[in-house]
Amino acid sequence: MGRVYNFSAGPSMLPEEVLKRASEEMLDYAQSGQSVMEMSHRSKQFASIIEDAERLVRQNMNIPNDYEVLFLQGGASLQFTMIPMNFLNKSKKADITLTGAWAQKAFEEINRFGTAIVQGSSKDKKFSYLPPINGVTPDADYFHITYNNTIEGTQYHSLPDTGKVPLVADISSGVLSEPLDLTKFDLVYAGAQKNLGPAGVTLVIIKKEFLEKAPDAKDLPPMLSFKLMAEHKSLYNTPPCYSIYIFKLIQEWIIEMGGVDVLYQKNQKKAQLLYDYLDSSPFFYNPVNKEDRSLMNVPFITRIEDPEKAEEVNKTFVKQAEAVGLVNLAGHRSVGGMRASIYNAMPLAGVEKLIDFMHDFEKKYI
Ligand code: PMP
Repeated sequence: MGRVYNFSAGPSMLPEEVLKRASEEMLDYAQSGQSVMEMSHRSKQFASIIEDAERLVRQNMNIPNDYEVLFLQGGASLQFTMIPMNFLNKSKKADITLTGAWAQKAFEEINRFGTAIVQGSSKDKKFSYLPPINGVTPDADYFHITYNNTIEGTQYHSLPDTGKVPLVADISSGVLSEPLDLTKFDLVYAGAQKNLGPAGVTLVIIKKEFLEKAPDAKDLPPMLSFKLMAEHKSLYNTPPCYSIYIFKLIQEWIIEMGGVDVLYQKNQKKAQLLYDYLDSSPFFYNPVNKEDRSLMNVPFITRIEDPEKAEEVNKTFVKQAEAVGLVNLAGHRSVGGMRASIYNAMPLAGVEKLIDFMHDFEKKYI
């Protein structure tokens, strides 16, 4: 079978060039006679992989020198826990905007260690928009946002002004899709399996001044201490070596593509094409507030009113799309409908093929 266009929200498509390079290097990485998978994480070859991964992501994301870059495990989900564990340490209050299912999880974990104060929620309309913030708790330890809501398809296009309260963001599904001014944040984190590589590694970028506020390493379980992980340059234990290696290849690919600015233009073109089509379709539509639309995750539903009939048509759509090599178009199980995730590795041709398919599909129903 030829390669398909994979619209999954994650793990998602990786650039073919990266996969080819990895396959060429599979049996013998840099004349070591070994695969990266077999290599000691203390070897000089792996040391240079992880150093390059950091150097290149610093270049691609324009990460300031006063920020630490960490490669952790446990996915973005562990960050929901680890961040309150480390940073709810003064007032034990954190502000949060409730903008989707992942924000909800972050909210629950804050409440495990302290108090989450909801400063805006869009739960009333199925998280289909981004709420303005009600305010900022002056003594909050931090303010958490979900930058891009993968399931619901919304994204912050301007950041809430949190004044002196440190801004913390889950950027899992937005990372490297567009330029991001990191100086606005004290901490950002992202699971890798969207724009960064295979699952297994989690990128965390922390302002050093903020990191200072975390408890000393001895006061937390080692794997849950940001300070310990930073002291050990993410090599306290065996890191997810192969994921970090692919992460490095992705960073090289981004540079070859012309950098994040170029990817951003391509992403805008892809998203625009899809949203324009949805806005003009008599059959499908995007249920999200226009100003808050995500660049990476585009949910869509049909105008069929009967829920049973709609569900049946959704299933048919997903199945028929799959048959022509457009895979993973089902919406998240919690919201239903369809969703096209169009991360960096999705070519324009994939989006064009999807639109052609949708065009043909709708004809049968209108
Ligand atoms: N946050 C967001 C915005 C996500 O999209 C996801 C996963 N899709 C998660 C958190 C959870 O990530 P993980 O599976 O890496 O724990």
